[in-house]
Amino acid sequence: MDVTATGSDVPPMIRLSGVGKTYEDGTVAVHELDLEVAAGELVVLVGPSGCGKSTTLKMINRLIEPTTGTIEIDGQDVTRSDPVQLRRGIGYVIQQVGLFPHQSIETNVMTVPLLYGESKATARDRAHTLMNLVGLEPATYAGRYPHQLSGGQRQRVGVARALAADPPVLLMDEPFGAVDPVVRVRLQDEFLRLQQELGKTVVLVTHDIDEAVKMGDRVAVFAAGGRLAQYATPAELLARPADEVVSDFVGSTSGLRRLSVTPLALEHLEPMDGVSAGDLGAAIDLDSTLEQALAVMLRDDRPMVGVKDGARFVGVLTPLGVHQALRASLAE
Ligand code: ADP
Ligand code: MG
Repeated sequence: MDVTATGSDVPPMIRLSGVGKTYEDGTVAVHELDLEVAAGELVVLVGPSGCGKSTTLKMINRLIEPTTGTIEIDGQDVTRSDPVQLRRGIGYVIQQVGLFPHQSIETNVMTVPLLYGESKATARDRAHTLMNLVGLEPATYAGRYPHQLSGGQRQRVGVARALAADPPVLLMDEPFGAVDPVVRVRLQDEFLRLQQELGKTVVLVTHDIDEAVKMGDRVAVFAAGGRLAQYATPAELLARPADEVVSDFVGSTSGLRRLSVTPLALEHLEPMDGVSAGDLGAAIDLDSTLEQALAVMLRDDRPMVGVKDGARFVGVLTPLGVHQALRASLAE
């Protein structure tokens, strides 16, 4: 496994060792899987349909029992935990949100805290806090019913409900799959912002490599037969696919995708000498990605872009600098 990846100095929150699942009809859904997820890390399981992603997720919260291997959460063997107790510490978000259709949004979200013995008033407070957290103003949405919400809003309720017990671990199975592409991007961005605040340990399943690269601190690429083909950071995965299965899956546009996961660095900038700020289009921040830098150059129709660290210009980036930055990210 890639020990240079994010969070490897933190003890794993989730550890799968030699985990396999063979269904009764003989289908090998997951094969000898070793996977560690550090506390606070967002790991994406990605791969074509039928390669064992959902099965893996459901083994973590014991909706499915593994045939072989062990799964530990926070050092505890999950097969020895009480499943009800276990699921309390694990939020679970699925594509078809599974809201109660005849209950209001507020009641839907309150269900979990009520289940854990909170008073009605506390549960309602908690529900409102969570609704605000996911961008659903309680004054407007508390009394609505699921069918009165858009797909994206229902998905937000699903996330709010999964967070209701404040679980350290969140499992998400194609959580943004059922909404249109524009809403999907918005939900992804919102979730990333939320995750920065909450710092949950998240395992997210998707079949969409773009979503995987965008969301994951690390990405586990699954191949047919439930085999783990590669487990690496998005940048590593795109720059150095482990084998043909991964490079096929990552696709011919992986070069472009690398732009979105490679940050700027001071050493690839040229000095501001001779360039007046007026010659440049809009400036970008030093913590931007190469993709953002190129997007501004193209939009403003300039051969370079000014880079700022806070309020101060620290240099300009040219397409040559972009090339050098990509090169350097490979050499790491
Ligand atoms: P993914 O989520 O990656 O699409 P799944 O984990 O759902 O894949 O399924 C992995 C494999 O296991 C597939 O071949 C699927 O058909 C099979 N499978 C899933 N659930 C069952 C089941 N209950 N019984 C038999 N085979 C199953
Ligand atoms: Mg699935």
